[in-house]
Amino acid sequence: MKTKVLGSSLATLREWSVSKGKKPFIANQLLDWMFKKGESDLTKMTNLSLEVRTLMQEELDMGTLELVREQESRDGETTKFLWKLPDDKLVESVLIRSGDRRTVCVSSQVGCPARCAFCASGRQGLIRNLEPHEIIAQVYQIDLWLKKKNEAVSHIVYMGMGEPFRNYESVVASIRYFIDPNFLGLSQRRITVSTVGVVEGIERFTQEGLKVNLVLSLHAPNQKLRTKIIPYAREYALETILDAMWRYADVSGRDITFEYTLLKGINDGIEQAEELARLLKGKQCTVNLIPYNPVEGLRLEKPHHTSVEEFRQVLDRAKVINTCRYTKGDDIAAACGQLAMQELKNVV
Ligand code: SF4
Repeated sequence: MKTKVLGSSLATLREWSVSKGKKPFIANQLLDWMFKKGESDLTKMTNLSLEVRTLMQEELDMGTLELVREQESRDGETTKFLWKLPDDKLVESVLIRSGDRRTVCVSSQVGCPARCAFCASGRQGLIRNLEPHEIIAQVYQIDLWLKKKNEAVSHIVYMGMGEPFRNYESVVASIRYFIDPNFLGLSQRRITVSTVGVVEGIERFTQEGLKVNLVLSLHAPNQKLRTKIIPYAREYALETILDAMWRYADVSGRDITFEYTLLKGINDGIEQAEELARLLKGKQCTVNLIPYNPVEGLRLEKPHHTSVEEFRQVLDRAKVINTCRYTKGDDIAAACGQLAMQELKNVV
């Protein structure tokens, strides 16, 4: 099997060079082209000899993905990328431009086991985990795309298809790759992992020594309502998840964020706001409220603007820090998994 370039450490690539009777430094030159000069085409890496380029073409696999579709929102702030994996499965990533930020939302699995009521990916269920290079390639290829516009990826969020802590090893390997100065060299503060609350994953992650941001998809202030919105949440008691989240905050020094998708008539009432305020009062955290963005085929509705404001006022009175984010790129299917679902409908 060919050695995959994306996902391999510098040491592995240097060992590969030596095993082929070449100087280890050619691995540094390869990475310099790929990450500094923004060139992934081996034939264009002109400071490598023709013999070395031919050897690399024959024996290395860049590990990049086939781009099936690229779709930009009308406001130009959001671009969705649909990728085909080697086994023809589809996965997507989203680039969000906001001020100087260039944030890539990556997928960690094909489909998702969480089956959230409001999510298109949830309807597929879990199909398979992504390999580390399949997560890395999403960011790398969008970074190349941005470099052509003299821009670069500045932030990464694991909020696309999949539950990151159900593909733990690949996700952690990709985070370590993204922060490695030989590759993207991103600050850990610019990386965010979002989970529905896989307790053993959060606990293991706490021991990794990483300081990335951790987000819990909360969506309800109590276990009963939460399991209706996220069937997967039955696996763990909410209090146990919250204990694990607070421990991560203590050990990493990072504040916790809670995502709360507001669904009309389900979790957007004053009663839920008050319960949420009681749950989080006095804690170092932020609640990110996301008014639901309707998905074709799902009978869920967008909350009224006034109920969103009233919900916020309850949190404000309890001094629970909160923000409200309307989903970007509504016109290009903004909820996670929607682009892949559309493509599946087109091909099936
Ligand atoms: S919202 Fe996220 S966690 Fe929930 S089903 Fe969709 S991809 Fe999975």
